Amino acid sequence: MSERKIIHVDMDCFFAAVEMRDFPEYKDVALAVGGSEKQRGVISTCNYRAREFGVRSALPTTKAFQLCPSLVLVPGRMDVYKSVSKQIREIFSRYTAIIEPLSLDEAYLDVTESTMHHGSATLIAQAIRQDIERELNLTASAGVAPLKFLAKIASDFNKPNGLAVITPDQVQTVIDQLPLEKIPGVGKVSIERLHQAGLYTCLDVQKYHYSDLLRQFGRMGESLWKKSHGIDERGIVVERNRKSVGVERTFSENISSFEQCWRVIETFLFPELDKRLLKASPTKSIVKQGIKVKFSDFQQTTIEHSCQHFNLAEFKSMLQEVLTRQQGREIRLLGLNVMLKPLELDRQLSLI
Ligand SMILES: [Mg+2]
Repeated sequence: MSERKIIHVDMDCFFAAVEMRDFPEYKDVALAVGGSEKQRGVISTCNYRAREFGVRSALPTTKAFQLCPSLVLVPGRMDVYKSVSKQIREIFSRYTAIIEPLSLDEAYLDVTESTMHHGSATLIAQAIRQDIERELNLTASAGVAPLKFLAKIASDFNKPNGLAVITPDQVQTVIDQLPLEKIPGVGKVSIERLHQAGLYTCLDVQKYHYSDLLRQFGRMGESLWKKSHGIDERGIVVERNRKSVGVERTFSENISSFEQCWRVIETFLFPELDKRLLKASPTKSIVKQGIKVKFSDFQQTTIEHSCQHFNLAEFKSMLQEVLTRQQGREIRLLGLNVMLKPLELDRQLSLI
């Protein structure tokens, strides 16, 4: 199996950066987005000036004001962040379809099979960062590596507005020297216990007995052992861009009977939808089937049924149901659609 090429893109102090972009008066102040001072809120994000005072994410706002009395705290505009996040994802999608968003401002991209920029993940990551800066006036940092967890770690190396690349032949050296607290998911409590056992770096973990690791640290022990040996078999979990798939046909001459409608569904619409569904979801994972009818007076009606298995019989009963609304009118359009299951493991890539 060839090496994977994973990019982790992480926006720099995202919420605060959007505020600084949209309101120039925030540019040169210590700025934080978060819950208000009087309510027992916490800091969600802050800019780099605020970080100089020790302000950081998840810090209670009262504490933040003690550290930085001049801090400007704004409540945040979630709707704006969401729409900027959509724009960022649109930029990602120019380079690969295999995108796993971790949050509004962070995502893994698998560009193993991308042919853009001669297949260079490094150049693709640079292009993405440039697009984001040029089009959205915001900066992002990126990490490139053959393993997911290393890509995430690398995106932090040259933050803000930086890129770091871990090539396949650098992987083992980087891992060996890696302090365990750098590994995503290793928290404060765990790190203390690891230190007590004499474990500080991945090299220490490699030298430790596997059975002792399992006994003392359970699943985290196993996960650390794997990562320390350069194993990260987690695939990129693709979020659906498409929520539904549908086909419809407008008739050159209106039709009116159940039999005529059924023939169109059975011989044309259903097989066509089947084909398109297969493309959008190889496992045909759906949550709903729907039918749409437009009558000769241009009135339109729809019916939706929950169902997990794409099936023709369901459409038959839905057609019967929808035609009870016909009231003597002819039919000028018929359509079928399905709602896709929101999230699916589209592709499990394995290193081993
Ligand atoms: Mg970020």
